[in-house]
Amino acid sequence: MVASSARIFHPAMQVSATLGSPVSQQPRLSKSRFMSGRQCTLRLWNDWFHRDLATPADSNSQARFDEGNEVGELARRRCPGVLVAADHRQSSEALAETGRLLADASVKVLHEAAFEHRGAFVRVDILARRNGAWDVIEVKSVLDVDKTHRMDAAYQGWVVAGAGLPVGSVSVMALNREYRYQGGELDLASLFRVEDTTAEAGALVPLIEADLARFQALLQQTEAPHVPPGRHCTSPYECPYLANCTRHWPAVPDPVDWLPGFGPAKHLPLRAAGIHSMGDLPLDSLNAQQRQVLACHRDDQPWVNEGLGNALKAFAPPIHFLDFETFAPALPRLIGTGPPARSYPYSGPATAWLERAS
Ligand code: SF4
Repeated sequence: MVASSARIFHPAMQVSATLGSPVSQQPRLSKSRFMSGRQCTLRLWNDWFHRDLATPADSNSQARFDEGNEVGELARRRCPGVLVAADHRQSSEALAETGRLLADASVKVLHEAAFEHRGAFVRVDILARRNGAWDVIEVKSVLDVDKTHRMDAAYQGWVVAGAGLPVGSVSVMALNREYRYQGGELDLASLFRVEDTTAEAGALVPLIEADLARFQALLQQTEAPHVPPGRHCTSPYECPYLANCTRHWPAVPDPVDWLPGFGPAKHLPLRAAGIHSMGDLPLDSLNAQQRQVLACHRDDQPWVNEGLGNALKAFAPPIHFLDFETFAPALPRLIGTGPPARSYPYSGPATAWLERAS
């Protein structure tokens, strides 16, 4: 647990919702919707009105989601407590159940406790009683706690305090990059570390209140906000509406994102500005490698590095080719490895090229 004992929000904050008794009439914004709104107001709008426009999660997204759940489960074992059983579709039941558990002095730690304040609704990963107050702990399957994670935790702290509970600290439980798996059961005390974000959470209160009011007003409008795609579409998270928002973009044979170095942060603003094709780019804006790629597409000709022929003379058939992929599990699976500081290579069968090369 974190060492801080300062009460950051309570009792200065006005309490407008009571524990176990939702009274808000505003659009109810879960933490994930609040974070959606911070990324893009159109994303929030779609989350609220048009979930059908989202691209379904692929197997990679599902694997990340499953791994996050596994980390959450381990964090609960690290801090054992009472789980609020009502699921995420049962918010009223979860609020009532949380209220009952908080009234029980023998309950020291709650998992998935529910709170509502001014239309903001959260389920707290870990809520721990300490010195007459409660520590709010958000669990993340990451090594480094960034500003998005801090805002995420701060939102929860603000809601919990606003609902009337004295908050002692706000923190993020992340993975410890120093941990090394020794085989057998994971050593949970070493696997996790807790980063105290109480001070940042306090400083973020005015921003949280302003954003919440802004998002609630937005959701009472009849028109979707106009937000062109840009670098925000993939940061901090890839938006599930990207395919829908870009559906009118022309399909060109040489899209700018095929150029090396033209990742989403670079090509999305360009395409939103109407620059879709490599040929639309001024040549003096490209480096030598990008110009080479552009020339190959323009002339429809392959390009072979001059030195390649000489470099390959040292090899003679049969030549074996080994194709490999990498994976980076959030949790260490191999003895001697730690959380995802690196990717691990793995391979299918090697492919043997037995013919004489020309
Ligand atoms: S794809 Fe981009 S513009 Fe569209 S909703 Fe998502 S973040 Fe907003």
